[in-house]
Amino acid sequence: MRSMLKVALEGAFTNFKRIFFAADRVTDMEMRNQIATLSVEVDDRVDETACIGCAGCSNACPTHAIEMKNLAAPVKITDDWVKTQVPEINLEKCIVCYYCHDFCPIYSLYGEKGTIHPACVGDQEVNVSELMAQPFKISEDKLKVISAYLSDKTVIKNREDGE
Ligand code: SF4
Ligand code: SF4
Repeated sequence: MRSMLKVALEGAFTNFKRIFFAADRVTDMEMRNQIATLSVEVDDRVDETACIGCAGCSNACPTHAIEMKNLAAPVKITDDWVKTQVPEINLEKCIVCYYCHDFCPIYSLYGEKGTIHPACVGDQEVNVSELMAQPFKISEDKLKVISAYLSDKTVIKNREDGE
């Protein structure tokens, strides 16, 4: 009988915590407060440092949610590649399909952990110049698909020229 009373009291206490302190809700109190005060902090969807500005994500997005915005100053990445733009995602148009994430050669959109943590690009430390200098293997078919989305054909042209 005493154990039944103990279970009942524990249950009542748990429910009290749930109802009055939202103890085990997925949406925690901090987020609830942010929503109530219209001050939700949105994590970065784009890692602007790692992005090389190829504009492929913008062209691949089915809902045209990505616009390329000009940088205040161009960033030289390699001798034949200068970044002038980075993407900006309009979250009202984004349907979270991750086409952009899957397309991006650097995983600069929604992060490498995109399918697990879709809201944030995470903490990446990427030296893009070093990355671009690395040799890469890619099939001709895949290269054709990728090149169809790139606004700047410099890399493709250099490869065809054997540079
Ligand atoms: S997740 Fe899909 S809809 Fe959203 S920006 Fe990327 S490609 Fe566009
Ligand atoms: S596909 Fe990736 S590297 Fe290219 S512009 Fe988009 S975010 Fe930047």
